[in-house]
Amino acid sequence: IKNIAVLTSGGDAPGMNACIRAVVRTGIYNGINMFGVLQGYQGLITNNIIPMDARSVSNIIHMGGTILKTARCLEFKTDEGMDLAFENLKAHDIDALVVIGGDGTFTGARRFAQRHQINVIGIPGTIDNDLYGSDFTLGYDTAMNTVIEAIDKIRDTADAHDRLFFVEVMGRDSGCIALRSAIACGAEAVLLPEKETSIDDLVKQLGAGAITKKTSSIVIVSEGHKQGGAYDIAKHVKERFDHYDTKVTILGHLQRGGSPSSFDRILASRLGYAAVNELLKGSTQMMVGLRGNEIALTSLDEALSEHNFKLESDLLEMTHVLSI
Ligand code: ADP
Repeated sequence: IKNIAVLTSGGDAPGMNACIRAVVRTGIYNGINMFGVLQGYQGLITNNIIPMDARSVSNIIHMGGTILKTARCLEFKTDEGMDLAFENLKAHDIDALVVIGGDGTFTGARRFAQRHQINVIGIPGTIDNDLYGSDFTLGYDTAMNTVIEAIDKIRDTADAHDRLFFVEVMGRDSGCIALRSAIACGAEAVLLPEKETSIDDLVKQLGAGAITKKTSSIVIVSEGHKQGGAYDIAKHVKERFDHYDTKVTILGHLQRGGSPSSFDRILASRLGYAAVNELLKGSTQMMVGLRGNEIALTSLDEALSEHNFKLESDLLEMTHVLSI
């Protein structure tokens, strides 16, 4: 392996820049020519491929977003798009690719490596923490800290006015951010994609809180909750229970931004370093992740076949017990 390219794809996540830095510098340290692909798979197709040196990743370890940009690229899902992408890589003599992204990105990477002679390693980058084979994905820890800071502020105003807030958080079809932020913020209840919610039980619980003189209540709603988002749930609850003034906050994209936490910077550095070392050893179609504080390799097949987040029922039970 002489020439390696790196790209970020799909949803952006804090820590991607720290990871690009680690990939580029580990490659250069080992005498590899490094390239960056702009705008994910789109840049492979449009030949937006630039050489990178150690200085091109200076002073980015602390930055959110991704200096390589990211994009969703439909053309890469076609055989013609993949063939074009491969021709552009060959024109630069690039023989290996590091992709940082989520399950869509890995699906594309696997198909590409099966169709063409190119080694690929995936690095899990998504705030949703939903990839099998890694206890944590890049950006999850930072997003959690952002969510917690925001909900703490909502708690202040909720408490001042005796209000009930429904706060919607990200996570797609994974309730990881919702459940763990519920514990971290002392939320009264949490609604998850993995579990059906009885609105009657929720109303009963909120009513019990009112009787024991709770001055505010916060219900966290995961964006993937199957019975509706925060506005829908607030409406259903309000129809049956109007003890509190009810408000809704959708945290939205602010959860994707910001300077990565120390945890995400270290994770990004470890995974980027490991990805290049694995390519140099000849690995391909693998994801590098972290399991029990050790770097762990999982085949892309396996990473894509299972859903990482298994509902932590003990935490769910705790949200009830600890918020009485
Ligand atoms: P994420 O990686 O965050 O899950 P997406 O699902 O948008 O984000 O996937 C990122 C990109 O990966 C897509 O825009 C597309 O270019 C590529 N991709 C996704 N699925 C496939 C597929 N089945 N075949 C080829 N490329 C794919």
